Amino acid sequence: AQNERESLFIVSEFANNFFRDYLLNSSEGQSVGASYFIERGFSKPVMERFHLGFAPDGRDLFYKTATQAGFSQEVLEKAGLVSKKDDNTYLDRFRGRVVFPIHNVAGKTIAFGARILKTDAKAPKYINSPETEIYHKSKIVYGIYQAKNAIRQKENCFLVEGYTDVISLHQAGIENVVASSGTSLTVEQIRLIGRFTDNITVLYDGDSAGIKASLRGIDLILEEGLNVKAVVFPEGDDPDSYIRKVGGEAFTRYVEQNQKDFIRFKTEISLEDVGQDAVKKAELVESLVLSITKVPNPVKRQIFYQEVAKLLNIDEAILINEGNKKTVTNL
Ligand code: ATP
Ligand code: MN
Ligand code: MN
Ligand code: MN
Repeated sequence: AQNERESLFIVSEFANNFFRDYLLNSSEGQSVGASYFIERGFSKPVMERFHLGFAPDGRDLFYKTATQAGFSQEVLEKAGLVSKKDDNTYLDRFRGRVVFPIHNVAGKTIAFGARILKTDAKAPKYINSPETEIYHKSKIVYGIYQAKNAIRQKENCFLVEGYTDVISLHQAGIENVVASSGTSLTVEQIRLIGRFTDNITVLYDGDSAGIKASLRGIDLILEEGLNVKAVVFPEGDDPDSYIRKVGGEAFTRYVEQNQKDFIRFKTEISLEDVGQDAVKKAELVESLVLSITKVPNPVKRQIFYQEVAKLLNIDEAILINEGNKKTVTNL
């Protein structure tokens, strides 16, 4: 199995070089791929830093190149780079798409995400590598290799949804950022970030899916004992579109002014909906208390109880009592 992992690393590196070379040195790569990235505002250095590439719009140019270079059909399939068809021919997985390689913490290429150039209903916007022996999507966050030093230095990690959010923030000089890449956040991903900092700021898309995902992620981050804040972007914006609209400085200002600890975040999101409705208010309190019970540190728990008590005008002792009941049932 060690040998198989090693050969998957090697073929992934080969594929990464192929896609990069095709982006930089073919006329299709230049006219289609590079112009796509340039239109999105990505600079050459940032494209280099993330090893962005382009997959040719054909059937099997990658397959042919890789087999000629000595890679077996078996390893190419295991890496998820090609698939075997009923007529025994092989088809490249990534075709006519810009390519975002996914690196592990050590900087080795382990998988790819690839975006279609023009979104339409027929094909998925992004295609990703399947799970392999070296790629478990629930255990990695996109951009960790490029971000880890900045995360340590800033003592904070921004968590975004997408590849392009990570790259746009880097482009603006904000380097402590990683993406969950569309999957719902996992404990392993939080622990990976936790190797570099105790503080996560969730910057998900400004739509209902993004807000729901933030709420789910927050409880998980609390359970892992990390500190979490969240920011809501204007409806329809994600970090990438917003930073391109307003620039890096205004973006940072927006984040600083709008970041909320999880209690304020949950409360403000729910409050419009709650209004004067006592039942809904009780449900909100319940869910806030449940979040607080997940915090392992008793001092922090105490502070959060005080905050909810003040914010919703409820006796703190009642909240703590509720929380203790829940903690017992949690066990
Ligand atoms: P773009 O700005 O290029 O449209 P995005 O990152 O804003 O991309 P979202 O729709 O917000 O795209 O999705 C967030 C992330 O979810 C993507 O970066 C990608 O990792 C993942 N994703 C989105 N659509 C798909 C899909 N159809 N299949 C698999 N993963 C997807
Ligand atoms: Mn979205
Ligand atoms: Mn998005
Ligand atoms: Mn986007």
